[in-house]
Amino acid sequence: MYDIVIKNGLVIDPSQGIKEVMDVAIHDGKIADLRRGINATGARYVIDASGLIVTPGLIDLHVHCCYGIAHIAVNPDLACLAKGSTTVLDAGSTGELNFIGFKKYVIRNAETRIYALINIESQGMIEFSRPNQKWPSLITGRDEMFINIDGTVEEIKRNRDIIIGIKWAHHGIKGVELAREAADRAQCLLMAENHLQPETLKYMRKGDVITHLYHGLRMEQHDGLLDADGNVQPEFFDAVKRGVILDVGHGAASFKWSVARKGIEQGIKPDTISTDLHSGSYNGPAYDLPTVMSKFLHLGLSLEEVINATTAKPAEVIGKKDVLGTLKIGACGDVTILKMEEGKFPLEDTSGEWEVCKQRLRAVKVIKDGRIVF
Ligand SMILES: [Zn+2]
Repeated sequence: MYDIVIKNGLVIDPSQGIKEVMDVAIHDGKIADLRRGINATGARYVIDASGLIVTPGLIDLHVHCCYGIAHIAVNPDLACLAKGSTTVLDAGSTGELNFIGFKKYVIRNAETRIYALINIESQGMIEFSRPNQKWPSLITGRDEMFINIDGTVEEIKRNRDIIIGIKWAHHGIKGVELAREAADRAQCLLMAENHLQPETLKYMRKGDVITHLYHGLRMEQHDGLLDADGNVQPEFFDAVKRGVILDVGHGAASFKWSVARKGIEQGIKPDTISTDLHSGSYNGPAYDLPTVMSKFLHLGLSLEEVINATTAKPAEVIGKKDVLGTLKIGACGDVTILKMEEGKFPLEDTSGEWEVCKQRLRAVKVIKDGRIVF
């Protein structure tokens, strides 16, 4: 009767407060049933998920996947979908001048469901990760700005089905100001990198996103979460109160074990866990979304918390919580089946510090829109 029935897995669906062994049925691309003892007779595929974890298709809120358009990008189907992320948000790889190519050649052809933030810089990140480019030059900021607010707002209005908001990165505070103006005019969210704090936070409102939460760069200048003494800057608590979303955005330079640990100890947990996958992070230190989730298990978050931060919460951020990041009947037929491996897994942060994790999550089966895609 069903296309796919997944039997006997530990279903964790924070959108419904579910954590128990049950079955999931998928039909016509949608979640068709969710309970114990679903009759799988006549199903095209029956998957035995005994001993495995069954979650809504994972959502990675920060990747770079304009593959073939810019050097920075990864192939979304290989680097994201095959590793468990059925939906991704491209965080500003392209701007108002080159989003057109991203949409035509990548988003429309990918199996992965791709939403995008448009970079406030008109050319997006086309110069990033060119061969032999040194990473530090990216962090010191760009002097030149090529920003066209009218063009950016127009491009968003033309592509509301894909573009969720605006990304600010790599410019001074004037860039944040312009990004705020564009986001207000287009009535969309703003994602800003966690730099130039606490200045940047002043521009962030409810539903906006700060990414690279736990980077450890320029700590003596209070650039990010912590002050020079290792205390969370008070403005972050105010931001949490007014509903600003705090995102991991691991990447190649933006996740430091000690910063994450200090932040979490002082009550700053991530709302969303994301990889910032790009050509400089997918072969390590970020690898893939289940690996970044595993790092947060190691830091003491519960399995439900890390799954909430990669399903229900990012779905809410992009305004899709009724159809994505949930196993509610009628939602998109996206399911990720994870295996929890136990052992000793050395994992590095972006400053080259290694810690040995006792658990590592790995995607063993990925279903998107009711089709087994991996
Ligand atoms: Zn990024």
